[in-house]
Amino acid sequence: SREQVANFAAGPAAMLTPVVEQFGKDFVNFLDLGMGVAEISHRSKQGGGIVSSAEENLRKLYKLPDDFSILFMQGGGTEQFAAVLYNIYAHHAAKRPEVAKDLVANYVVTGAWSKKAYLEAERLGFPCHIAVDMKQVSGKYDSLPRKEDLNFTPADKTAFVYYCDNETVHGVEFNGPLEHVPEGVIRVVDTSSNFISRKMDFSHYDVVFAGAQKNAGPAGITIVFVRNSILERPEPKELHKVGIPVGPTVGDYKIMADNHSLYNTLPIATLHAINLGFDYMLAHGGLENLENESNEKSQLLYQTLEKYPLFKVVVKPEARSRMNITFRIEPESLEAEFLSGAEKLHLMQLKGHRSVGGIRASLYNAVTLEQTKRLVAYVEEFAKSH
Ligand code: PMP
Repeated sequence: SREQVANFAAGPAAMLTPVVEQFGKDFVNFLDLGMGVAEISHRSKQGGGIVSSAEENLRKLYKLPDDFSILFMQGGGTEQFAAVLYNIYAHHAAKRPEVAKDLVANYVVTGAWSKKAYLEAERLGFPCHIAVDMKQVSGKYDSLPRKEDLNFTPADKTAFVYYCDNETVHGVEFNGPLEHVPEGVIRVVDTSSNFISRKMDFSHYDVVFAGAQKNAGPAGITIVFVRNSILERPEPKELHKVGIPVGPTVGDYKIMADNHSLYNTLPIATLHAINLGFDYMLAHGGLENLENESNEKSQLLYQTLEKYPLFKVVVKPEARSRMNITFRIEPESLEAEFLSGAEKLHLMQLKGHRSVGGIRASLYNAVTLEQTKRLVAYVEEFAKSH
């Protein structure tokens, strides 16, 4: 049953039970309309109400400055890898049309997801540069860049600096905004896997995006916070003239902002499920509480793993994710036994990403302290019996 299972999936991931229960009711009969939330128009009063309520809740949760817009988009984090390029190059064309197309997108690579974002820039043919690839520095993705590791292009030649706040596959998380970015450069951050898990000071960011399916609810919606100044851009035919590629309409931040995210059919049922989570979080102490809880849960697990030489936490202490705790068991042949023993206790979806193997426990917002303690107890017991 749902009560027995602790779900440590990396995403799509566990959702809060009260949210799932309310969503179930609303899926059948929303606001007593005699229709479910997936059966009404995104342009109806109730549909529009979901969009504005989700936006209002996010503004409250993050204390978002007024000069940021919130967009609800589709296509996942992966679409944003491309969208940030089209939108930010177009924005530069408004200011410096003659040089915009030659500006260089800088990527700070700390794991699989920032690497994929870089590869998308390369694939789409934008001028791009790896400011650092931590695998080159450290031999593997287990650490954060120091000042001397970062090699940015000069500010006036840079389109933006991009990084991933929490690397879901490797379990590497920044403990604050990326430092040492040259003054005046646009900063883009992927917060897909540590979204709404701590406060953020938006003075350090220009574009922040996150897929919903880890900390916020079901897959299908990507949340984008964008500084309004970035929305300024020439019309597509002007962009063509100066050699800036024009991306698809559905990825265009200005069109999405002008249409309050309702340019085309938004999956508002999905957004409703996400927004029920926002309601719950606001009623239970907001980001401060979520930050404290995530610290407590992750520290408890890391400290337990560190007690036993059987377990090897791969990531260096200062770079360890609060969300995705990755570790190996030595010898590695014991990992399958660890996983099957865990499943017998209903501790589910602990297998590491297929590209790296090992064990990964994702402790997102909907994973409770009690469930984390059950995992910790199992880790202890496994260590003592091996
Ligand atoms: N960024 C991060 C940090 C991710 O973890 C993921 C997905 N796991 C993505 C981007 C890609 O998201 P999507 O699958 O929604 O395109």
